[in-house]
Amino acid sequence: MKLIDGKKISNDLRLGIKDHVKKIKQETGNLPGLATILVGQNPASQVYIKSKIKACQEAGIQSFHHNLDENSSKEDIISLINELNKSSKVDGILLQLPLPNNEYAQDCINAISPLKDVDGLHPFNAGLLNLSKSWDEIIKKNILVSCTPLGVIYLLHKSNISIEGKTAIVIGRSNLVGKPLSMLLLANNATVIMAHSKTKNLKEMCKNADIVIAAIGNSKFLNKNFIKDGATVIDVGINRTPDGLCGDVDFNSVKDMDVTITPVPGGVGPMTITMLLENTLKAFKNRH
Ligand code: NAP
Repeated sequence: MKLIDGKKISNDLRLGIKDHVKKIKQETGNLPGLATILVGQNPASQVYIKSKIKACQEAGIQSFHHNLDENSSKEDIISLINELNKSSKVDGILLQLPLPNNEYAQDCINAISPLKDVDGLHPFNAGLLNLSKSWDEIIKKNILVSCTPLGVIYLLHKSNISIEGKTAIVIGRSNLVGKPLSMLLLANNATVIMAHSKTKNLKEMCKNADIVIAAIGNSKFLNKNFIKDGATVIDVGINRTPDGLCGDVDFNSVKDMDVTITPVPGGVGPMTITMLLENTLKAFKNRH
């Protein structure tokens, strides 16, 4: 088994981002800025927001945090977003999900200016991703793509795992992870299977895939019976169990196989925040 060290790849990228921010400051006198919005006190969300603010500070990116009351209405959230849309200091806006009332999450996201949508969840940016024909086009056009899927592609590229011509299966079809990841793999010339809870013969499909990506949210769901020798396995899942954090892949079951795999923690997780910093730089460039 070969491990993909997401922490190391992420740290290297963050050093590059820090240098980039310094250069921007020298050349323009400005610093990129990220506004974060947390509604309520969800403990997991508080931890994520803290890590995002810390990562911004370490990279030299300005951060502006807003904590709204648990009972804030959709109008309260959109009113803050409108203010941040207008602020010249704010390049990116991140609304931490889920909201206490998640029914109107997409309405709030739709209120974010597409130019500041560093999570890539606005229909405009999701549309640009779907319309793009290649990875080169996505990079050249600075398209804002959802952070976790973008991080997965960087992990594969930085680990020299070729995607072109490979069969990749993505298990999970959320707007946050599965769908954009499938589009990114397609743009990298993989043949992509999008699987979900209604997929039949999942085991056989996975067993035929060169790249297996699990974004399900079900601890240790995939085991060695789903994976062929020589496959690359990317575990996006983060599941809190009495034994601590674990992924969607039963790591112990596959550890003696000839596979290349991301651990949980220390695989995809660190890349998500790194891509948020990367997207904030893209948003800065697109706006200036
Ligand atoms: P989600 O919105 O709940 O989507 C889960 C997907 O898994 C759905 O499409 C669902 O299918 C599918 N699924 C559920 N049970 C299945 C089964 N038995 N067989 C096949 N597919 C099944 O979750 P998400 O937001 O995409 O997140 C997925 C996981 O990634 C979670 O553990 C989350 O914590 C983690 N995550 C990690 C990061 C990171 O930074 N590492 C970032 C985001 C999310 P249906 O559509 O048919 O219901």
